[in-house]
Amino acid sequence: MVHIVGAGPGDPDLITVRGQRLLSEADVVIYAGSLVNEEILRFCKPEAEIYNSAQMMLEEVMHVISLAEQAGKTTVRLHTGDPSIYGAIREQMDAMTARGIAFDVTPGVSSFLAAAAALKAEYTLPGVTQTVIITRRGGRTPVPDSESIKKLAQHQTTLCIFLSINLLDEIKRELMSAGFKSSTPVAVVYKASWPGEEKIIQGRLDNIVQLVKEANIDRTALIIIGRCLDSKPEDYQKSNLYSPKFGHMFRQARF
Ligand code: SAH
Repeated sequence: MVHIVGAGPGDPDLITVRGQRLLSEADVVIYAGSLVNEEILRFCKPEAEIYNSAQMMLEEVMHVISLAEQAGKTTVRLHTGDPSIYGAIREQMDAMTARGIAFDVTPGVSSFLAAAAALKAEYTLPGVTQTVIITRRGGRTPVPDSESIKKLAQHQTTLCIFLSINLLDEIKRELMSAGFKSSTPVAVVYKASWPGEEKIIQGRLDNIVQLVKEANIDRTALIIIGRCLDSKPEDYQKSNLYSPKFGHMFRQARF
């Protein structure tokens, strides 16, 4: 049996209870070493065989999994954050299905959620935006034309941009040409939740490139853009959920 597990964003105690249990029971662990905090491997059995997939190709990962299956061992395939977000798990799941290997998936706390926690932000601020777009900018990995930053920006939602910190300058120019004001708030969160390593840079479209350069951030960072970051109490609407005027299934309106 193979368990695909989300390790969470970095701090080892942000793995789920289930993920930690599966990790502690696994005979074989293959972790995405380029991003997973190795501290999390302390949950593994001392005798567990541990592989870092950063140095492996898909076929090698599948080889390790197949050998473990033949030996009746349990494997955890450990991905950073949540495996469904840029985790490249589909190709592994398809390869396992083709080989008749049973697997399941345990979700994790994605880094865009750890970034919101670090920023103490609400991405879906009532009256400001009710939508979060998770994307990356096309670079070495192409993105469909219909999902260019310029097109997505037109919706004026909260944007969480993965895997693109090296393209911040292009992103800034594209957002400005899509009509974003130079005063639009932008945050860059580096290593969200990693103990002692997290960095938060808060700026605006017109100064964020410089601020990020000064902070020497060139990887493991998320770019968050949108008015939810600088809205003041008078800029958003209070939620209906906790309003006395609004009744719902669990509470009657009081006015
Ligand atoms: N599955 C992961 C994303 C993997 S793609 C998740 O759900 O978070 C790798 C990209 O994720 C990085 O380039 C960076 O943009 C982002 N990332 C991963 N961990 C991060 C962290 N702790 N802080 C900030 N960004 C992170």
